[in-house]
Amino acid sequence: MFSEKFVLSDRVLQVAPSPTLAVNAKAKALRAAGADILNFSVGEPDMPTPAHVCAAGKKAIEEGRTRYTPAAGIPELREAVCAKLKQEHGWEYKPEEVQISCGGKHGLFNIFQAVLNPGDEVLIPAPYWVSYPPMVQLAGGTPVIVPLQQDRQFDIDPAVVARYVTSKTKAIVLNSPSNPTGAVYSLAALAEVAKMAYEGGWLVVSDDMYEELYYGEGKVPHILHADPRLKDQTVLSNGVSKAFAMTGWRIGYSIGPREVIRAMNKIQSQSTSNPAAPSQYAALAALTGPQDFPHQMREAFLPRRAFFVESLESIPGVSCVAPMGAFYVFPNFSAYYGKKFKGTAIDGSVALADYFLDEAQVASVPGAAFGADDFIRFSFATSLTTIERGMERIKQALAALQ
Ligand code: GLU
Repeated sequence: MFSEKFVLSDRVLQVAPSPTLAVNAKAKALRAAGADILNFSVGEPDMPTPAHVCAAGKKAIEEGRTRYTPAAGIPELREAVCAKLKQEHGWEYKPEEVQISCGGKHGLFNIFQAVLNPGDEVLIPAPYWVSYPPMVQLAGGTPVIVPLQQDRQFDIDPAVVARYVTSKTKAIVLNSPSNPTGAVYSLAALAEVAKMAYEGGWLVVSDDMYEELYYGEGKVPHILHADPRLKDQTVLSNGVSKAFAMTGWRIGYSIGPREVIRAMNKIQSQSTSNPAAPSQYAALAALTGPQDFPHQMREAFLPRRAFFVESLESIPGVSCVAPMGAFYVFPNFSAYYGKKFKGTAIDGSVALADYFLDEAQVASVPGAAFGADDFIRFSFATSLTTIERGMERIKQALAALQ
């Protein structure tokens, strides 16, 4: 008789599967079975990967560049990452300070594996992306959740961060623009957090995956601009998935202190060996070719974002902070908690998201997965028509609650 507790590790038993991927899989299965599901769950651009990027991937295959690469990734791609950071931010990095990974997610996994010891605490502002706490746990660390407030537009709050600092604080995760809130941290708040991180000697893990999708003017405020002294204790995490609609190619990159990157390469050499070679050549074409794609995507997202926020705000009891980046809205539905459908109470975001899926055929991700049960996340990386239809269904579903 199989006994799960006997066979599986304590490490894996303490985490759940990724809820974003789970809801997406469920929505796709329902759709395949014939249901008219409107899918706002997983975050992935709805545009195809640019043609010149696909061509570079195909060319790599045709030319036989299909073998192992260095564990850290091909040198040309690491150089291209350095050139991008120099050009866009003025930051100087060397290729040995860059690791190419199987997606940004895998890069983050490698970072935590490389730096955490049992008992090390990692500050994670909430609402947080679903995978940060499990990744920290799988590396033996302890996630310490730092709550952010809707009425401060989910900006990072240095005073609140300070309350969660202990002698075991080892690192802080920053994600701006944020998944799921779309919040962009202010430079002033980042400067204060930077001072704490510098003085406390913490590692800053800056997940910049959505930096190209910023709805404000100029560049997204960044902790390394707020306080350049932090460069030696910061690891930047990024990738081509969001900026170039390349989620399935699985290419991310991390940039940071040589010793940390070297340790991450050791992990990669003992686990994946390297990210897929043709994908690396495609990513090289993305980073070195025309840079108008992220801009076009941002332009396409603007009307969807405006419509979504306006429609949500027009529903009695619902409030929604306009996202300043990324492609998610994160409305607060807590006014509906406690209401009933056919006698069953909606007692939180999981029940409400289930209700939306079952009764309105709308797939979304419950806020509980992001450490914020008052909210539900919807991705607007889908057509305006789908969003219009989805909003109609959501309004009707909410009106049916008693
Ligand atoms: N980051 C995306 C999301 O939150 C991709 C799915 C995932 O890996 O979580 O939907």
